[in-house]
Amino acid sequence: MDIKKESSQYLLNTYKKSICLESGKGCIVYDLEGKGYIDLIGGIATCSVGHANPAVVKAISSQANSIINPSNLFYSKPQIQLAKKLVSLSSLDKCFFSNSGSEAIETAIKLVRKVTKKKQIVAMKNGFHGRTLGSLSATWTKKYKKSFEPLIPGFKHADFGDIVSLKKKLGPDTAGVLMEPIQGEAGVIVPSPGYLKEVQETCNEYGVLLILDEIQTGCGRTGKFFCFQHEGLKPDIVTIAKGLANGIPIGVTLAAKGLDFEPGDHGSTFGGNNLSCTAALVTISVIEKVMPQVEAKGKKIMSGLEVMEKVKEVRGKGLMIGAATVGNDYVEKCAVKGLLVNSPHPGVLRMLPPLTITNKEIDDAILILKQVLNGNGIYD
Ligand code: PMP
Repeated sequence: MDIKKESSQYLLNTYKKSICLESGKGCIVYDLEGKGYIDLIGGIATCSVGHANPAVVKAISSQANSIINPSNLFYSKPQIQLAKKLVSLSSLDKCFFSNSGSEAIETAIKLVRKVTKKKQIVAMKNGFHGRTLGSLSATWTKKYKKSFEPLIPGFKHADFGDIVSLKKKLGPDTAGVLMEPIQGEAGVIVPSPGYLKEVQETCNEYGVLLILDEIQTGCGRTGKFFCFQHEGLKPDIVTIAKGLANGIPIGVTLAAKGLDFEPGDHGSTFGGNNLSCTAALVTISVIEKVMPQVEAKGKKIMSGLEVMEKVKEVRGKGLMIGAATVGNDYVEKCAVKGLLVNSPHPGVLRMLPPLTITNKEIDDAILILKQVLNGNGIYD
């Protein structure tokens, strides 16, 4: 089987692919030839507690052996256990379960429109919220949007990091402000300390809801379960997905007290199924164990990167790391040497490894990065 040829023959042309990954264990993945790679992509932040994590494997196998999707027409124990856990972790009030980040954003957009009866949402320039029509309307990048217009009306975009710009966009018809606490796809852009607090205060002052997209920053990625907890924020709505169930599809929209739908307003056939909720519950229990080490591990990677010749700037928090580079062509060179990193934005390498990455794996990864980014590798 020629996987490359057949992929381009049978799959719609969306993603550029390189290697075929067949298996993984912890932070190491293997291709069809059995070559191993240190995985600093982690299924784009979905694999939060390592490939083939034994606790997750055990829980999902046993759930699959019992019942996968009783459907939302019936009560589900794992669904309510997960909702209770997420409410206690976030201090928000209620959850809606879906199957992806984009769907969690769609839910958030519908919920703010429903509860405020207002139409406008202010998102951020360079922000990314997904590819479905609603989430795409909130997304900034023009090239993702231009072939699909007309999109959903009612979105304005403020400069990320600039509170004056945000205030200028707010008006009597603004329902909410939607933003990532750290912009991931834009190349890991961390706002200045205090900015998010100012956004919160502005939302309170103007009476608009604060919707935080924690799809990439959530689930322990930055060293706390939610990134907003670093600054003690009280968002009205929070979306999570990616790392919550270690790769099993799930999206969650968490809402503060008083924000709710009515029956018939919204739904999902697969959302909140027993398999994904069970996977999330066990994944959270592992995340809680490893989360205290996330900041230190992130610092170890960042300080390794900072001194590399081809690295101009290192940004990030915990294990969400971006390195701005001189030039662009490092992803492939790293892969050849057995290291997976990706580049969500030209000139930026991004690292989102499993939170369970070991210090030895970090050392090995840095060694490869040095060979590629120090200007003295075999490729120069
Ligand atoms: N929001 C953010 C911040 C994201 O990083 C992503 C995915 N990269 C999404 C939304 C969309 O998530 P999904 O691809 O699961 O729909």
